[in-house]
Amino acid sequence: MHASSRPHRMRRATATGLTLVVIALAVLSVAGVMRTRRAADTVTRATALAAAYERAHDAVAEEKLAEQHYRLEPGPDVRAGHAAAAAALAAALRDVDRLGGATDRALTARVRALQDEYLASMNSLFAAVDAGDAALVKRIDQNLTDPVFDQLTGDVRAANIAHATEAADAVTDLRHTESIVFTTTTLGFAAGLVLITGFALAAAGYQRRLLRQAAANEHQALHDALTGLPNRILFNRRADAALADPDAPVAVLMLDLDRFKEVNDTLGHQYGDDLLRQVAARCTAALRPGDLVARLSGDEFAVLLPGTRTAEAAGLAAALQQQLHRSFVLGDVTVDVEASIGVAGAPDDGHSADALLRCADIAMYAAKEAKNGVAVYRSSMHTDDSSRLLLLGDLRRALEAGDQLTLHYQPKVRLDDHGLSGVEALVRWQHPTRGAIPPAEFIPVAETTGLINRLTLYVLRLALTQERAWLDAGLSIPVAVNLSPRCLLDAELVRHVTGLLDEFGVPARLLRLEVTESAVMANPVQATATLTELHDLGIHLSIDDYGTGYSSMAYLKQLPVDELKVDRTFVQHMDIDQDDAILVRGAIELGHNLGMTVVAEGVEGTAHAAALLELGCDIAQGYHYARPMPGADVAAWLRTHTATTAMREAAF
Ligand code: C2E
Ligand code: CA
Ligand code: CA
Repeated sequence: MHASSRPHRMRRATATGLTLVVIALAVLSVAGVMRTRRAADTVTRATALAAAYERAHDAVAEEKLAEQHYRLEPGPDVRAGHAAAAAALAAALRDVDRLGGATDRALTARVRALQDEYLASMNSLFAAVDAGDAALVKRIDQNLTDPVFDQLTGDVRAANIAHATEAADAVTDLRHTESIVFTTTTLGFAAGLVLITGFALAAAGYQRRLLRQAAANEHQALHDALTGLPNRILFNRRADAALADPDAPVAVLMLDLDRFKEVNDTLGHQYGDDLLRQVAARCTAALRPGDLVARLSGDEFAVLLPGTRTAEAAGLAAALQQQLHRSFVLGDVTVDVEASIGVAGAPDDGHSADALLRCADIAMYAAKEAKNGVAVYRSSMHTDDSSRLLLLGDLRRALEAGDQLTLHYQPKVRLDDHGLSGVEALVRWQHPTRGAIPPAEFIPVAETTGLINRLTLYVLRLALTQERAWLDAGLSIPVAVNLSPRCLLDAELVRHVTGLLDEFGVPARLLRLEVTESAVMANPVQATATLTELHDLGIHLSIDDYGTGYSSMAYLKQLPVDELKVDRTFVQHMDIDQDDAILVRGAIELGHNLGMTVVAEGVEGTAHAAALLELGCDIAQGYHYARPMPGADVAAWLRTHTATTAMREAAF
């Protein structure tokens, strides 16, 4: 906003200056022309007047000459010459009247009067000459003619000089005006030129800035802000351009860091960001000019190798992987990460950027699975395993996106007083294209990779966020979260759980973790150690799905577990299947003998509930009480449930 208003103001100022200069120039020119014209008029008039007076003066002198001539050689010619001079004087005086002002006309009137007087005396003089009376001639000349003549010449001469001076002054004035007009117009044009140049420069600068801004915007839209690498949009564009030639081989690598999440979670985002920047730099350095590395999301990078066959691409991928295996120094710590790279190539594996990326993604998961770093896509991967691998990719993206996975909560109800003993958190996945995917479909797949650890932490975070909200609303509802077998082998689990409890300020006693027997049996020593640590924190533990796995009394006895959940498959059929009924009864007895509370899962009707109560079961969970529901609905369910229970009790 600020940056764009400055050039705007500058342009407006220059434009205003330019307009002012143009107006000033116009006013100056008009004034100059008017003044020049006035001065020129004055010059013309004064010059003409001066000339008329000059003629008058000459005519008077001519008269005098004719007079003297007549006195020496009288004759009709001389008289005619005198008359012509008198006529010339009269004509000159008429010119003066026409050209001059009031003063001039007053002067001509006086001159005419003198001339009349002079002509009268001249007639007497001519007569005296003709009579040969020299004495009279002399007298007339001295007393009449000469004084009048002198006055006449004097007046005319004075007027002549006055007007000649006026003309000369007007000429000077004209020159002066001309020089002023010339100087100011020159200066004005110079100023205008400077302003126009300034204006042009400002406009050019502004345009340059706009172009730079547009280029920066385009760069931003096509690049990842953190690493500066091209993003998915630019990658797809370049890939499609490379794929335009159907005969040219094009290879695509999909690269994913195996332990990035760990770095981010344990060291913090700053370290994670630093790691990603260094990975980006190493990838760029490891490739050839013309190859393109892009960051697609989180720790997922793609490489476009135009003109490269798959076999060559696999070699490049292996070299790249070697580069990434060298330790990274992040500030004061050194970390080692591993990368899995999938390779796919056109034309064999697809003809579009999307198709190649998808194949490279499948190959990348295969590489991750096999822990061999690099895998080249084979169509058999697509048939065997692709749905599983695609599901893993999608789940990983869901964990990053943060808005596809939610929790539902299912109440556990005490059979004796119908009070709420707690809720179990069950994950729900709303896939952006496939819709809701049941946990039974993706949990087992996630369990085959390290992704289950990330999922578990994600679920724990959601559950504790909800617990915090309940606590803030004055509700203290114990919440149970399911732990997969693999989680018990995660050395960081206890630290993460402690951190999350601290973060949300949730007392450990409100958290319960459910594990299956098989989870414990898979690695009894480590599982027992982890469970003991969790128990020591004050967290409650349950054995989940009891009856489905093989169980060992010896281990069960050692475990710090206070709840046994009998699997719903036995509960559901206990009324029709004798074996199931025996198992449920046995489980209840066993649990009680070990000092545990026994929960029956999958309680779908009143008959089940009654039978379980009869058998001494403590807690029931199932559709009979409630289906899993969003956390926000639990408080309302609890109010209705409490009210119904109270009414039923009152009825008895
Ligand atoms: P589970 O731990 O045995 O969870 C109980 C399952 O039984 C839930 O299925 C629940 O909806 C269902 N259920 C509850 N009452 C009844 C009933 O009366 N009748 C019937 N037929 N079913 C009932 P859901 O939510 O589909 O979960 C399936 C399994 O997925 C869970 O079995 C659990 O093993 C796993 N799971 C769910 N959420 C998570 C999670 O956050 N982490 C892990 N690791 N596993 C989870
Ligand atoms: Ca469970
Ligand atoms: Ca269960």
